[in-house]
Formats: sequence, C-alpha cells, structure tokens
Amino acid sequence: MDSQLADAPKADILVIDDTPDNLNLLSTMLTQQGYKVRSVTKGATGLRGAQAAPPDLILLDVNMPQMNGYEVCQQLKADDRTHDIPVIFISALEDVLDKVKAFAVGGVDYITKPFQVQEVLARIDSHLTICRLQKQLQAQNARLQQEIRDRQQAEEKFAKAFRSSPSPIAITTFPEGQFVEVNPSFLKMSGYPLSEVIGHTAADLRLGIAQETYNQAIQQLLETGSLYNQECEFRTKSGELKVVLLAIEQIELDGVQCLLNTINDITERKRLENEFISLVSHELRTPLTSLMGALDLLIAGKLGSLTEQGQKVLSIAITNTERLIRLINDILDLERMKSGRITMQMTKCNAASLLTEATEAMQAMADQAQVQLLTHPLDVELWADPDRLLQTLTNLLSNAIKFSEPGSKVWLRAEVRSQKPEARSQKPEGEEEGENLIQNSKFKIQNSQSSESIHHSSPPHTTHPTPHTLSITVKDQGRGIPADKLQTIFERFQQVDASDSRKKGGTGLGLAICRNIVEQHDGRIWVESTLGQGSTFYVTLPIYE
Ligand code: ADP
Repeated sequence: MDSQLADAPKADILVIDDTPDNLNLLSTMLTQQGYKVRSVTKGATGLRGAQAAPPDLILLDVNMPQMNGYEVCQQLKADDRTHDIPVIFISALEDVLDKVKAFAVGGVDYITKPFQVQEVLARIDSHLTICRLQKQLQAQNARLQQEIRDRQQAEEKFAKAFRSSPSPIAITTFPEGQFVEVNPSFLKMSGYPLSEVIGHTAADLRLGIAQETYNQAIQQLLETGSLYNQECEFRTKSGELKVVLLAIEQIELDGVQCLLNTINDITERKRLENEFISLVSHELRTPLTSLMGALDLLIAGKLGSLTEQGQKVLSIAITNTERLIRLINDILDLERMKSGRITMQMTKCNAASLLTEATEAMQAMADQAQVQLLTHPLDVELWADPDRLLQTLTNLLSNAIKFSEPGSKVWLRAEVRSQKPEARSQKPEGEEEGENLIQNSKFKIQNSQSSESIHHSSPPHTTHPTPHTLSITVKDQGRGIPADKLQTIFERFQQVDASDSRKKGGTGLGLAICRNIVEQHDGRIWVESTLGQGSTFYVTLPIYE
C-alpha cells in the first residue's frame, strides 16, 4: 500500500502556456518531481482538458492569444467541475500583471518568469496542501452535519415516543433516583402534577415500589445491562395500588447517568386473570370431586372387579385427577389468601414441634425418594399460624426432596439470629454431617400470653418484636436453581423447567403460597442456590416477647 502510494504520481497538474520553451521547462521540472503533468498551449484547449479530467492544480499563463489567462480562470471558476481547482498565474516580468485582477478572477497565487524552480515547487506544494486540507475539512464538515442531522432526528423520534407513549415513562438520576423527566402517561397514571414529581424520588412520593425490589432490580441491571418486566406495586396519589411491570435501561442525559424507567400497568390484566382463574377453578372443583368419588368407587371394586389392565388405567386416572384437585385447591387457597379472605390464625406455638411435625409428615416421601432428612429443630416460641407454617415447611421439604437425587441429604434447621429480618444475606453456619435429629437449644423467649389459640393476624399488644429472628433453612444437594429464576419461582405458576409440573407432579403454586404465608407473618422468604450443587431456602420470622 505504502509503496503503491510512493509510486503513484504526487498530483495531476495542468500547465497552460503559449510559450513552448516555458511549457517544456515547467513540464520537465514537475515530472522530475513526480507530478503528472499535462501541458497545453491554448487557453481554450486547457479549459476543455480541465473540464474533461479536472487536474489537482493549474499553472496558467496570463498573456495568451485568443483567450487570456484571466478569461480562462473566470470560466474555470464558473464551472462546478473545475471551480475548486487552485489556479496559479504565471506572467513574464515584462508583462504588467494585474495582481488584483488575478485574485479577483479566482487565482490563488502568481509567479513571475523567469522563475526559480524551488519557489515554484514550494508554491505548488503549499497550494496542493491547502487544497487537500480544505477538501478534508469540507468532508469532515459534511460528516458532522450529517451526524447532527441524524442525532436531531433520533432525539426527535425519542422525544415523540416519550411524549406520546401510552406506557408511563420516567427518567431518574442514578443512583439518587430523582425524577428528571416524566411523560404525560406517567402523570396520568400516578395522578401527580409535574411540579410535584420533578426533583423528587419514588420514596418521597410514596409510590410504593418496595425499595428492596427496586434495589434488586438495579443490581440486576448493573450485572446484565438491562432489566425487563420486573413485577412490582405502584401507589398512585389517591392511594390506589396498581400492579406494574418495570423495565429499566441506563442512559446518559447531558453527561449525567440516568435510568429510563418504562412502566406497564397490568392491574386490569391481573384482575381479569385472577377472576378467570378463580372462576375456572370453582367451576372445575365440583365435577372433579364427583369424578374422584366415582373413581374411588371403581378402584374399591364396589362396581365390579376390573382386569389388571383396567386397574392400571384407573390408577393413572386417579393420579391425574388428584393432581388436578391439588392444583385447583392451591389456586383457590392462594386467591383467598391474596384477597384477605383467609387470615392467619395466630397463636403461640413452638418452632421445635413445627419442625418435627414437618419432618414426620415428609419422612415417607423422603424414604421413597431415598433422600436422608436431617432435622435441627430449636425450642423457640413463636407467634404464628402453626397450620400455615407447617404448610410452608412441608412444601419446601417436598421441593427439596423432589429435586434431589437418591442418596443425597436434605437439612431442615432452625436458628435464632440477632439481626433484623432485613439483614438477610447472611448464610447459616455450615451444616455438619451426622449432626442429625432434634437439637434442643437453651434459647427460649417467654411469651406472656396463654397458649390457647387467639384469632388475630397480629401479635397481642402486650408483646414487642425482639431484635431476634427465627431463621429456618431448608437445604438440599439437588439440581439447583439458575440465578435468573431465583426470584421468579416465588411467582404463581413459575417453574424452572416447563416440564417440572408433569415430571415432578408440582403445580408451580407452592412457593407463591409459601411467600404469602411468610409475608403475612411479617417474615421473609428467599433462596440461594448453586446450579448442580443444591439450594437453600431461607424463612425468617420475627420473634416477639
Ligand atoms: P412446584 O409445585 O412446581 O414445586 P413451587 O412453587 O413449589 O411449585 O416451585 C416452583 C419451581 O421452583 C419448581 O417447579 C422448581 O422448578 C423450582 N424449585 C423449587 N424448589 C426447588 C429446589 N429445592 N431445587 C430446585 N428447584 C426448585
């Protein structure tokens, strides 16, 4: 490439001079310097040559018969094809060179004959350089203009999409979270006027987007570069609670790091979905119950005996009907809990008994799956709904067993922690193997209430939350859960693998029910997991005194 450049002529120069000696001299001199030279003796011929193949520079004699240099130059400048070619006038010393006219008709320079070779070369070189730089500048300018136009168009498109989007959009500073710009849909949904939004944060406005959910979303955004469809709650100015899907992108606005928050209001969709699910469930429950009754009669042989093949088919029908009934019961259970039609029946209960009961309930399943169940209960008194907590623990244990290989272990452990429930990232101490069965702790928090059941959803007012929480963990050595599913599996019908419900007999509702129960106890539930190594589900509950 470089050698090609070195071999290529430096520039194409057209010399127009009616004196053959001058022409030869210039031509030889320039050719020797590596220029490509065309020489003509007549102005008109030079003009045509320049128009047909524009040179990089023209050396033009002033005094020529027929058409003099000034006229040639004027015509060159009047033609778009030759307008930008630099013209250097040449004149003999005895000629009267009208310098002003030379510049006025568009010449860039002039040289007087007899000329000094070095001077001519220096002038040609500097004008070629100026011309090249000028062209570069023009090209750069054109590029910049195009970029500005593109940017303006993009900005205009964004501004239009921002203004007219039916989805509420808000731009917030990062990490402070102050609203910088919001679109009309955002104002409409939130019910706030612009003046009450700009400069404030979601927390200032009590928009109800749980700080922790938002922080987790930001964390995911920083790790993966974007975040789509994070479900959260949004409280409007009038106090109405909406369910929204949040998508966040990082953008830079006037040099400031910002977040582009796009919101999708799915409140109505959710309501219809819930209504539909509950309607279908109610409609299905009665025929399914009677179907199950009929199948029970058949399997009990009350309607005559069946062939072996018939028995097999009937068992499959019963298993599937049971699964459907379980699914419908779970749906209705969750729906009643969410709508507040089921409240927790709070009473004083003992964590050790609950853990033991949960283990006993799941022992048969564990034996069948050849999974060893190791329990570490703790003698702590709790203010809770024992049936619902048992439901939570048995569901977690059932999952742990379901997703474990034969020969592996599942641990159920309780510990008292002195942190507040929010301090949730800390893991329990390592589980030592063989440290099995009931381990009674000295730790006991006395409750002034009698142990009989009191139907409140909150602890009696004589009690106060202590700085202690009960942390219950269910740990397995099973297949683990991918990082992007750690949160979603607590949503309704969310499973890691679409085939889980078919292969493992689940409904995808268990964890949603567990979360609802734990949250109604003012507790927290989450999971940590390593793919291929196992998962640990954590439930923390406040302890009252
Ligand atoms: P299911 O009835 O399907 O078990 P859950 O809501 O209890 O419904 O669980 C949802 C999904 O979470 C399961 O289908 C499974 O994909 C995943 N999951 C739950 N617990 C575990 C676990 N201990 N190990 C691996 N995956 C699990």
